[in-house]
Amino acid sequence: MIDEGTTVTVIGLGLIGGALCHTFKKKGLKVTGVSRSETIAKALEMKIINDGFEYSRIPEALSGSSFVFVCTPLLDIGERLGDIFQHVDKNTVISDVGSTKSVICSIAEKHIRKGVYFIGGHPMAGSEKRGIENSNPYLFYDAVYVLTPLPGTPKKVVKKLSSLIDLLGANVMILPSEVHDEIAANVSHLPQLLAVLLTNHLAEKNNDLFRNLAAGGFRDMTRIASSSYAMWGDIIKTNMNEVKKALSDFKKELSYLTDRLSDDNYLDRFFVNAQKERKTIPRYSKGFLKPLFDVRVAVQDKHGELARITNTIYYHDVNIKDIEIVNIREGEGGILRLGFSEKKDALKAASALQAIGCEVAVMD
Ligand code: NAP
Repeated sequence: MIDEGTTVTVIGLGLIGGALCHTFKKKGLKVTGVSRSETIAKALEMKIINDGFEYSRIPEALSGSSFVFVCTPLLDIGERLGDIFQHVDKNTVISDVGSTKSVICSIAEKHIRKGVYFIGGHPMAGSEKRGIENSNPYLFYDAVYVLTPLPGTPKKVVKKLSSLIDLLGANVMILPSEVHDEIAANVSHLPQLLAVLLTNHLAEKNNDLFRNLAAGGFRDMTRIASSSYAMWGDIIKTNMNEVKKALSDFKKELSYLTDRLSDDNYLDRFFVNAQKERKTIPRYSKGFLKPLFDVRVAVQDKHGELARITNTIYYHDVNIKDIEIVNIREGEGGILRLGFSEKKDALKAASALQAIGCEVAVMD
């Protein structure tokens, strides 16, 4: 559905914008970048754009483009939309990659004009690193990519953008912007604030004994507390109501729990419920992905063993979607986890590996 040579303009060549350029260019599209001149020079050197312009030349950068992706910081996206709507050609699809969607979509709705379309976007992939130098063409592979079309956007336009996102290897999920923001507040923004709160709770103790014993579980739970406020400030500002609601629900649950700490039956049910709920969260997926079908393979610690396994699967024409080495110990070997998108692929890979003498388990 997307022709080679289609022009895509990416505005803001940082981690996310740079990764879009990488992949679109690799797929044979004509990529125009808009950023500061130093960044454009880097992008040209990396050969991830065909052409580049500074922000002051946005009208030239938009001319002839079929798709525009705005990839600057969240608050900046909203400020740029008016100018972009004014200068795009008819039938252009404008999208963005901001981590919250309702504010941006309502700004886009104010600027919408006949024959120009806006579909919000949020690739659920990223990193704590910033900048074009950290971008790569595999960033979105297998990640969920949420699209939030404005009401009234023709289905064929949503399909057109979805086909472009397919080129990134991402999985498109279409949601109303306010549903996206409610989910994001509960599964991303609330945990982020709690990780920061927990870490600051430790800082309040200001005691190395506490810090040393916090290694392990506490450290794992608070990994995301190292994120920078630069991006999170914008996220909280643009999803304030949903974040407040999530925090207020959490406060009620915390106080309910505090009142029942000596109720053994309640706590037992509380833990059992959490165990059950956690099992329902897809384990090996980025974001809202459907679970993969897993095959576990016992691997021996010997030269060329991983290549033997992956080559066997390759020769049986099965595509491995995810791969992870679990519990490997020197001299003892370990377990290799292979993820497949279809059960039939998992079964085919398992029988091919059994045929070469591997110990294999298909996980249901
Ligand atoms: P980034 O690496 O910092 O890139 C943003 C780029 O925007 C910069 O490289 C900069 O390029 C340009 N820019 C324009 N105006 C700017 C300003 N006022 N301040 C700073 N930079 C400005 O950030 P990113 O991680 O790609 O994030 C970009 C967007 O993606 C954000 O809206 C974010 O919400 C969204 N997002 C991020 C992630 C993630 O994990 N990082 C995941 C999903 C979505 P020039 O210096 O050349 O102008």
